[in-house]
Amino acid sequence: MISKCDICGKIFDSKDGGTICQGSCKKVFCPKCECESFGENEECRNCLKKKIKMTYKQALAEGKRVGVSHASEPIFIAQLCETFKCLHPGAKPELVYNGAIKKGLTAKQLAKLANESPTEYGDLMFV
Ligand SMILES: [Zn+2]
Ligand SMILES: [Zn+2]
Repeated sequence: MISKCDICGKIFDSKDGGTICQGSCKKVFCPKCECESFGENEECRNCLKKKIKMTYKQALAEGKRVGVSHASEPIFIAQLCETFKCLHPGAKPELVYNGAIKKGLTAKQLAKLANESPTEYGDLMFV
Protein backbone atom coordinates (compact mmCIF):
# COMPACT_ATOMS: atom_id res chain seq x y z
CA MET A 1 0.00 0.00 0.00
CA ILE A 2 1.26 3.45 -0.91
CA SER A 3 1.15 5.93 1.93
CA LYS A 4 2.15 9.50 2.48
CA CYS A 5 4.15 10.39 5.57
CA ASP A 6 2.33 12.96 7.71
CA ILE A 7 5.61 14.35 8.93
CA CYS A 8 7.89 14.78 5.93
CA GLY A 9 5.37 14.25 3.14
CA LYS A 10 7.37 11.45 1.56
CA ILE A 11 5.42 8.88 -0.44
CA PHE A 12 6.42 5.37 0.51
CA ASP A 13 5.32 1.79 0.18
CA SER A 14 4.19 0.42 3.52
CA LYS A 15 5.89 -2.88 2.72
CA ASP A 16 9.17 -0.94 3.12
CA GLY A 17 8.24 -0.16 6.71
CA GLY A 18 6.48 2.83 8.11
CA THR A 19 3.88 2.91 10.84
CA ILE A 20 0.52 4.35 11.69
CA CYS A 21 0.35 5.76 15.19
CA GLN A 22 -2.24 3.91 17.27
CA GLY A 23 -2.55 6.86 19.62
CA SER A 24 -4.89 9.79 19.22
CA CYS A 25 -3.05 11.43 16.29
CA LYS A 26 -3.32 8.42 13.92
CA LYS A 27 -0.51 9.92 11.87
CA VAL A 28 1.32 7.96 9.20
CA PHE A 29 5.07 7.84 9.54
CA CYS A 30 7.53 6.81 6.84
CA PRO A 31 10.44 4.53 7.83
CA LYS A 32 12.73 7.54 8.07
CA CYS A 33 10.62 9.52 10.52
CA GLU A 34 9.52 8.92 14.09
CA CYS A 35 8.27 5.47 13.17
CA GLU A 36 11.83 4.26 13.74
CA SER A 37 11.13 4.41 17.45
CA PHE A 38 7.83 2.58 17.53
CA GLY A 39 6.36 -0.55 16.07
CA GLU A 40 2.94 -1.76 15.07
CA ASN A 41 0.13 -1.09 17.53
CA GLU A 42 2.23 1.49 19.31
CA GLU A 43 1.88 5.19 19.79
CA CYS A 44 4.20 7.85 18.47
CA ARG A 45 6.34 9.95 20.75
CA ASN A 46 3.92 12.84 20.56
CA CYS A 47 0.97 10.79 21.76
CA LEU A 48 3.02 9.16 24.50
CA LYS A 49 4.13 12.55 25.70
CA LYS A 50 0.51 13.54 26.21
CA LYS A 51 -0.16 10.56 28.44
CA ILE A 52 -0.46 11.17 32.14
CA LYS A 53 1.94 8.78 33.77
CA MET A 54 1.28 9.91 37.31
CA THR A 55 -2.06 11.25 38.51
CA TYR A 56 -2.27 14.43 40.55
CA LYS A 57 -2.86 12.49 43.77
CA GLN A 58 -0.02 10.09 43.04
CA ALA A 59 2.32 12.99 42.33
CA LEU A 60 1.45 14.68 45.61
CA ALA A 61 1.91 11.44 47.55
CA GLU A 62 5.16 10.72 45.74
CA GLY A 63 6.37 14.23 46.59
CA LYS A 64 5.80 13.60 50.27
CA ARG A 65 7.62 10.30 50.02
CA VAL A 66 10.73 11.33 48.10
CA GLY A 67 11.14 14.90 49.33
CA VAL A 68 12.05 18.01 47.36
CA SER A 69 15.57 16.98 46.39
CA HIS A 70 14.35 13.90 44.53
CA ALA A 71 11.16 15.33 43.12
CA SER A 72 10.52 15.02 39.40
CA GLU A 73 8.75 17.51 37.16
CA PRO A 74 5.21 16.08 37.62
CA ILE A 75 5.69 16.27 41.39
CA PHE A 76 6.70 19.92 41.21
CA ILE A 77 3.74 20.62 38.95
CA ALA A 78 1.32 18.92 41.35
CA GLN A 79 2.76 20.83 44.29
CA LEU A 80 2.44 24.10 42.38
CA CYS A 81 -1.20 23.37 41.58
CA GLU A 82 -1.76 22.69 45.27
CA THR A 83 -0.05 25.95 46.22
CA PHE A 84 -1.98 28.00 43.68
CA LYS A 85 -5.31 26.64 44.88
CA CYS A 86 -5.82 29.71 47.08
CA LEU A 87 -4.65 32.15 44.44
CA HIS A 88 -6.90 30.66 41.77
CA PRO A 89 -9.95 29.30 43.58
CA GLY A 90 -11.76 28.66 40.29
CA ALA A 91 -9.03 26.45 38.89
CA LYS A 92 -9.35 22.85 40.02
CA PRO A 93 -5.79 21.74 40.83
CA GLU A 94 -6.28 18.23 39.52
CA LEU A 95 -7.49 19.45 36.13
CA VAL A 96 -4.82 22.12 35.86
CA TYR A 97 -2.23 19.44 36.60
CA ASN A 98 -3.57 17.19 33.83
CA GLY A 99 -3.58 20.10 31.39
CA ALA A 100 -0.04 21.13 32.27
CA ILE A 101 1.22 17.56 31.79
CA LYS A 102 -0.59 17.15 28.47
CA LYS A 103 0.85 20.41 27.23
CA GLY A 104 4.29 19.37 28.40
CA LEU A 105 4.75 22.46 30.55
CA THR A 106 7.57 22.64 33.04
CA ALA A 107 6.92 23.63 36.64
CA LYS A 108 8.69 26.92 35.91
CA GLN A 109 6.42 27.68 32.96
CA LEU A 110 3.38 26.78 35.04
CA ALA A 111 4.43 29.09 37.86
CA LYS A 112 4.91 31.89 35.34
CA LEU A 113 1.41 31.33 33.94
CA ALA A 114 -0.13 31.26 37.40
CA ASN A 115 1.50 34.54 38.31
CA GLU A 116 1.18 36.41 35.05
CA SER A 117 -1.79 34.97 33.23
CA PRO A 118 -4.58 33.66 35.47
CA THR A 119 -6.88 33.11 32.47
CA GLU A 120 -4.40 30.87 30.69
CA TYR A 121 -3.73 29.09 33.93
CA GLY A 122 -7.43 28.35 34.31
CA ASP A 123 -7.69 27.29 30.67
CA LEU A 124 -5.31 24.42 31.41
CA MET A 125 -8.33 22.69 32.91
CA PHE A 126 -9.76 22.27 29.43
CA VAL A 127 -6.71 21.00 27.56
ZN1 LIG B 1 8.63 10.91 6.86
ZN1 LIG C 1 0.55 9.74 17.64
